[in-house]
Amino acid sequence: MPKLFGSSGVRGLVNVDLTPVLAAQIGMAIATFSKANKVFVARDTRSSGGMLTNALVSGLLSGGTNVKDMGILPTPVLAFLTQRMHAGAGVMITASHNPPQYNGIKVFQSDSMAYDEQSQNVIEEIIEDKRFSLVGWRRIGDTQPADQSQLYVKTIHDAVKLREKLHLIVDTGCGATCSLAPKILASLGCKVTALNSQPDGFFSARSPEPNEESLTFLARTVVELGADLGVAYDGDGDRVAFIDEKGKFADFDRTLAAYAAYVTKMKNGGIVVTNVEASMCVERMVEPHGGRVLRTRVGDIHLSEAIKKQKAIFGGEPCGAWIHPQFHLCPDGILSSALLLKALDEEDKKFAELISETPKYETLRKNITCKNEAKHKVVEKIGENFRQVFPENTELSRVDGVRLSLEDGWILIRASGTEPVIRLTVEGESLRTAKKIMEKGIMLVEQSAGKVK
Ligand code: MG
Repeated sequence: MPKLFGSSGVRGLVNVDLTPVLAAQIGMAIATFSKANKVFVARDTRSSGGMLTNALVSGLLSGGTNVKDMGILPTPVLAFLTQRMHAGAGVMITASHNPPQYNGIKVFQSDSMAYDEQSQNVIEEIIEDKRFSLVGWRRIGDTQPADQSQLYVKTIHDAVKLREKLHLIVDTGCGATCSLAPKILASLGCKVTALNSQPDGFFSARSPEPNEESLTFLARTVVELGADLGVAYDGDGDRVAFIDEKGKFADFDRTLAAYAAYVTKMKNGGIVVTNVEASMCVERMVEPHGGRVLRTRVGDIHLSEAIKKQKAIFGGEPCGAWIHPQFHLCPDGILSSALLLKALDEEDKKFAELISETPKYETLRKNITCKNEAKHKVVEKIGENFRQVFPENTELSRVDGVRLSLEDGWILIRASGTEPVIRLTVEGESLRTAKKIMEKGIMLVEQSAGKVK
C-alpha cells in the first residue's frame, strides 16, 4: 500500500487518489486512534470540500465521535479552535497551495500541533489492517454545524493594537481566508481593500500559491491605489506573502528574518526556529539581539515540534509559513500579517524600511545526476570527507542531508526523495563567494561519488 501521509497530511487528486471511500476510512481511523469524544472539522474553498467533509464526518460518527462542522475556515483557525475549545482532534480538508483538482486531509491534535509521523503511521496501519472500532448503533456520534471563528477574531483583536491606520490591499485568492482576513484586518482599524474575496473552489482569479508571479495584480493595485502594503494568503491561509508600498514582492527570507529580529529584540533573546533551506540572513538578524537560530528539516511539522520542545519564541519557513507559539503551533497567515502590522507600528517603520535592514545574499542551486542506489551513500560520505575540501571553520549539520556552515556562506547537499539526483543549494555573501562555494561543493560530491563506486 502506498504511504498515505506525506509531509503535510494526505494529499492527492480528488476522486483518483483521494476518494470519499478513503476519506470515510480516515474518519473511522481517526475515531479509532484518538478515541475523541469531540472532533472539529473544517475545509478550504475547494469544490470537492463538501463531498470529502461528508465522507470524513460519516467515518468519524461511525466510531462514536461527535463532530462540529465549522464549514470554510483557514487551517490555522481550525488548529487554534481545536486547542482553545478542547476538542480531541481537528481535521482540516485542504490541499493548501496545490491546484484546485487536488485536495487533502490534515489532522491536528488537541494542542494545535499537526499529527506527527508516528501518529500518521498508526492511522495508516489502522486503515491498512481495517482495524476500525465501530460503535453499536446507540452510540453513533452526532454532527452539528458550528461557527466559533469569533473567538479567533477576538484573540487577534486583543493582541494587536495599532496607532497608525494603514491602507492595506488584501488578496485572499478566493481561498479559506476570504471572509475572515479582510474582517480581522479592518477590525484593527486598517482601511482594507479586499481582492478575490469571494470563495471560488476553482481558484479562477489566481493560483492558490502566493508568489511573485501569482501576485502581479495585487502589486499593481497597491501602486495604483497608493496603499501602504499588500497582503496575500495561500489557499488554506497558513502562509502569508507581502507586497511593499512600492509594489515590490517582498523576499520571503528577508521578511522572515526582519520579523524574527523584531521578536528577538522584544523578548531580549530566545530561540528562533527555521528550516535548513532558509537564508543565513535569519542568523545575521537574530544573533545581534541575543537570539539563537535552530534549523530543522523542511516541513512545518518539524518546526512545530522543535518550537514546542525547545520553547522557542518564534519559527518560520521561507514560504511565508510563520508559527507564533504564544497563540498556537500551526503556521498562521492572518495572525502573521496582524503581528507584522504590530511590528511596523511599534518600530514606526514603513514595510520596505523594515525589510531593508536585512542583508541580501546570493543563492545558487544545482542538481548532480547520481544513481538512486548510490545517492544516499554519497551524501553519507560527504559528511565524512568535507574537511578535505572545506578545511576552514566549518560547522556540520545532518538535520537534513549535509549542511555546512562556512564563514561567508553555507552549502546544503541532499539526495532527492524522488529523482536520481543530488541537490546542492548554496548561499554566499556575494555572487562570487556563492560560485566559489558551489565549485567546491561539486568537487566534494564528485570525490565522494568516486569513493562509493
Ligand atoms: Mg497552506
